[in-house]
Amino acid sequence: MKPWTQNGSAHLTGNERDPVIIIGAGASGMMAACAAAGEGARVLVLEKNEKPGKKIYITGKGRCNFTNLCDTEDFFTNVPRNASFLYSSVYSFDAHAARDWFEAHGVRTKEERGQRAFPISDHASDITRCLVQEMKRLGAELWLNTEVKELLFSSAQHGEVLGVRLADGRKLKTRCVIVATGGLSYPSTGSTGDGYRFARSAGHQVSRLSPSLVPFNAAEEDVMQMQGLSLKNVTFTVEGKKRHLFQELGELMFTHFGVTGPLILKASALVQDEIAKGPLRAWIDLKPALTVQKLDARILREFEGSQNRSVRNAIRGLYPSKMVPVILKRSGIDPDLPVHEMTASARKQLIGHTKQFALTLTSLRGFHEAVITRGGVDVRQIDPGTMESKLVKGLYFTGEVLDVDAFTGGFNLQVAWSTGRAAGEAGGREYGL
Ligand SMILES: Cc1cc2nc3c(=O)[nH]c(=O)nc-3n(C[C@H](O)[C@H](O)[C@H](O)COP(=O)(O)OP(=O)(O)OC[C@H]3O[C@@H](n4cnc5c(N)ncnc54)[C@H](O)[C@@H]3O)c2cc1C
Repeated sequence: MKPWTQNGSAHLTGNERDPVIIIGAGASGMMAACAAAGEGARVLVLEKNEKPGKKIYITGKGRCNFTNLCDTEDFFTNVPRNASFLYSSVYSFDAHAARDWFEAHGVRTKEERGQRAFPISDHASDITRCLVQEMKRLGAELWLNTEVKELLFSSAQHGEVLGVRLADGRKLKTRCVIVATGGLSYPSTGSTGDGYRFARSAGHQVSRLSPSLVPFNAAEEDVMQMQGLSLKNVTFTVEGKKRHLFQELGELMFTHFGVTGPLILKASALVQDEIAKGPLRAWIDLKPALTVQKLDARILREFEGSQNRSVRNAIRGLYPSKMVPVILKRSGIDPDLPVHEMTASARKQLIGHTKQFALTLTSLRGFHEAVITRGGVDVRQIDPGTMESKLVKGLYFTGEVLDVDAFTGGFNLQVAWSTGRAAGEAGGREYGL
């Protein structure tokens, strides 16, 4: 894929109409560019990286789970923060519309488990290439290696946009800026939080920023012995003061620092405020399909006919091998104990640790491992239909820079498509002609 303008060499001249300027050639910025150019606006996208869509390349493990094809009502149940802000933009351009859009622009798509949509090629680059080609077809300009340092406006709050200042000192004039700079997660992809600074300079509130959809650190040292072990069909519960903060069945994995995997990432989005105050108690039910009685019967069955075998060998069929020494130690059982010497109370201990394998979650991992950023530009100061600032005319915010976040499964990219499109259409129509 060859970008058609490398670094702003094609200067804007004074006698052309002012472009709609979009900061960031990520998911939402490129969708906004297509929408604004589709409205007939002159569009200029400024991207500080050497190529567009760097984060898109790593989404869905390189396959890009670009949306989720659930009912639009269900979509909002996957947005734990500020879902109602998204009603207008998502209903205007929902997951099905997004898939149709990519199909219409040459990306063949497929649906997988959990209604997750991917390009049929399993290549995230198809999504980026499609967006770049459509921007080009519509005549939008893309300047790479071009970092925006500052927004220029007549005055913060109740002012209007006048332009942007680039890192090399150049100033570009415009009446419309769409900030699509992403959040703080995976900063190597270019999302280094510049948009929050721009928002503050315009008088916007930015809510507390924290990593989300992120692994947990755990206090227990034996977790390290199980590094790399993945558990499917287990229940993960995070305890709260009065009720469980999280309880769900799914898949998780042990790491050298704690736990990760789909269940864990989802839990991280829901316990942010609580873990900020201190460690949380959690447990894994390793056999959620079995009651205590059934599990006891199952263990006794494993023991039948192997009375002289060590417990370690006798329970091999019940636990993954990396877990056997850990769970026996936690249960206070000598792994070499012959089965016939195992007491009922020892069995009770084993069952207890199987149904409630305890973990102390000490903290979340950092932004460099987080799928998204929680927090951002306060949506109460943004028009939900257009994404325009209620404080500064001609200033728009889209995608992850907003204080909206969703679970894994394609929902976050859909937020980028929907909000990007809303801003592009509105900005293009209002200021681009
Ligand atoms: C590992 C990983 C996997 C993921 N997988 C999925 C998935 O499969 N499905 C899903 O829905 N979501 C996924 N996400 C989340 C999703 O990628 C983001 O929510 C989405 O990319 C946000 O889009 P955005 O356009 O707001 O920001 P970004 O895609 O981050 O784009 C922001 C762009 O702005 C540029 N920029 C920033 N500041 C400036 C500046 N000052 N001047 C010029 N340019 C600037 C950046 O370089 C960047 O190109 C994943 C995230 C990660 C980290």
